[in-house]
Amino acid sequence: MSDKVPIAKMRNIGFIAHIDAGKTTVTEQVLFCTGRIYKVGGVDEGTTTMDWMVQERERGITITAAATTCSWQDHQINIIDTPGHVDFTAEVERSLRVLDGGVVVLDAVAGVQPQSETVWRQANRYGVPRICFVNKMDRPGADFQHTLDTIASRLKANPVAVQIPIGVDASFRGVVDLIDRKAFIFSNSNGGGGRATQTPEEIPIPPELDQQIRDYRDRLVTKIAETDDALLTKYLEEVEITPEELRSALRRATLKSTLVPILCGSARQGKGIQPLLDAVLAYLPSPLDVAAVTGVVPGSDEPGQRSPGEGPFTALAFKVVTDPFSGRVVYLRVYSGEASPGNIVYNATKGKRERMGRLLQMHANRREDLALVSSGDIVAAVGLKDTFTGDTLCDSDAPIILETIQFPEPVIAVAVEPKTKSDQDKLGDALTKLSDEDPTFRVRFDTETGQTVISGMGELHLEVLVDRMLREFGVAATVGKPRVSYRETILRPARAEGRFVRQTGGHGQYGHVWLEVEPLERNAGIQFENHVVGGTIPKEYIPAVHAGVKEALENGILGSYPVVDMKVSLVDGSYHEVDSSEIAFKIAGSMAVKEAMRRGGPVLLEPIMEVEVVAPGEYLGEVLEDLNRRRAQIRNMEGLGDTQIVQAHVPLAQMFGYATSLRSATQGRAVHSMGFSHYQQVSSAEAEKVLSGVV
Ligand code: GDP
Repeated sequence: MSDKVPIAKMRNIGFIAHIDAGKTTVTEQVLFCTGRIYKVGGVDEGTTTMDWMVQERERGITITAAATTCSWQDHQINIIDTPGHVDFTAEVERSLRVLDGGVVVLDAVAGVQPQSETVWRQANRYGVPRICFVNKMDRPGADFQHTLDTIASRLKANPVAVQIPIGVDASFRGVVDLIDRKAFIFSNSNGGGGRATQTPEEIPIPPELDQQIRDYRDRLVTKIAETDDALLTKYLEEVEITPEELRSALRRATLKSTLVPILCGSARQGKGIQPLLDAVLAYLPSPLDVAAVTGVVPGSDEPGQRSPGEGPFTALAFKVVTDPFSGRVVYLRVYSGEASPGNIVYNATKGKRERMGRLLQMHANRREDLALVSSGDIVAAVGLKDTFTGDTLCDSDAPIILETIQFPEPVIAVAVEPKTKSDQDKLGDALTKLSDEDPTFRVRFDTETGQTVISGMGELHLEVLVDRMLREFGVAATVGKPRVSYRETILRPARAEGRFVRQTGGHGQYGHVWLEVEPLERNAGIQFENHVVGGTIPKEYIPAVHAGVKEALENGILGSYPVVDMKVSLVDGSYHEVDSSEIAFKIAGSMAVKEAMRRGGPVLLEPIMEVEVVAPGEYLGEVLEDLNRRRAQIRNMEGLGDTQIVQAHVPLAQMFGYATSLRSATQGRAVHSMGFSHYQQVSSAEAEKVLSGVV
């Protein structure tokens, strides 16, 4: 077992990127060069270490957030994988919640792409300090300065180049470190061959770069000096600022996100990796540099917080995976204190005690048992049964519930039908395990059609889940056409009665309730309150009424869609000494809430997507016309050189087949990205079409 590094020498980072920018390749190179894997895979051949799921290999995209540990210059770097596809935004959210710093990988040809913007904004929201790696410098058309410009213009960030490339395209061979004024070329002198990380070798500064280095270094010194009063004085007095002073001021500015250090290289050729790792240590935060995490003391509104370092044990569960070897594995970020295998910890979110089984450090290709985990660690725990994503584990003497991870609502649904009786039997287990792992994946039974309906964040998300059902759980199922996941709610308060009375010879049935319903704001979910006092309904029947209401609201009254954003209050009722039973009250509750909804002006809600289209200016007319046909609400238009960026809110129902239509309207020269924004009421004309099955 290796010795623990001090917390100041830890880095919890994520590589953040637009799909295809090269995040997987960069990660591979980092793992190779830190000595954890001995042969670099290659996404093109489908053999990479991080993308361990079969689907990811076949599709060549990264889906799950696996955490991997490596070491560099006596520091420990924990890499939390963050997927780049919008359908998996939940994975990005959970990663951003637990990582301390990010390396944004950009494509030197494309510059900042729309999706990098989405993730950049998410990272802003979580206050994550970042550095950028301008990848693919070896490609024809690579342009370091253009990429810097797009970082400033599209991300509204303040980039500062700490390197410049030596050569570009086929002649790209190294970088100049502007702070130390040193030039390095990368070569295969270590004999690694093929795709191995190349070793930097210092060379004299190429004279043709002299002027460029002077210009870039001037800009670097000016930008850094502007962030630090002491350095600014020196700068104005023309006193030489040392590389050490520059580095530490740049570190402070990066931690505050006022500056973003920019590096470059070619991951595919293994060039630029070691300086990137040095920059991770130099500029990105250790767990000690980040603000205390906040939460509440359970059972009260009292705020609580945990600072990194010693203190009562506090950790957040950020991912659950069912692993073929270890069973249920829960990934934890430890915020304060320490714990060992076998310790009993308190799950403050669930109000339950749990025993920590094994605690593991995950490396790219092996796992290591830990005797102790402490503040700053990212580890995997085996043996926790009731802990789910977003739960807080802590010391029962110092309970706290940390702010949980916010996940968006699933917006798209498909019906799944098992092919045989044996598939039917396995389906339930498979769906439970998959939804256990993924908080944006939901399962429900549609009572109207008798089908099992699964919903998620996008078509690709559902495809991957159905694929996993088959491969990992052996469930063969036919899958319907993707449908929009509508919701139902009401517009005004209403009141209704539910009476379930049966007199069938001997023992009868008697349940009787009055319920009131009222609309709540969006995202409030369903709330249930009991206002019955004085034994009008005996206490033991109240949970049955609640259960009846809950079950009834899983399938609304308009189109059997789940009901949301409504408060249900139990206000009156009656009972019978002999005939009342839980089942009778459950049925009465369900009858009453359906009737109350009917009286409360039921409406459909539909998911509205945030859509961004980037197209050459000449196609703007076609793009807008097409969006308008889709009931789009154009929110913003911006020109960037000869490119136009359009941002719009569009109902998801109108977005099926958009990629194809955009491609043909713009001859493949436009790209778009899409993410869930909010739920909105459907107009009655549209609702009629949806409910009569026209769309
Ligand atoms: P991800 O989607 O961001 O994880 O990107 P990948 O690492 O899967 O890379 C996407 C594609 O870009 C693959 O075909 C890689 O081989 C290629 N690629 C990655 N890095 C480089 C690079 O530095 N230069 C070139 N020319 N191609 C690269």
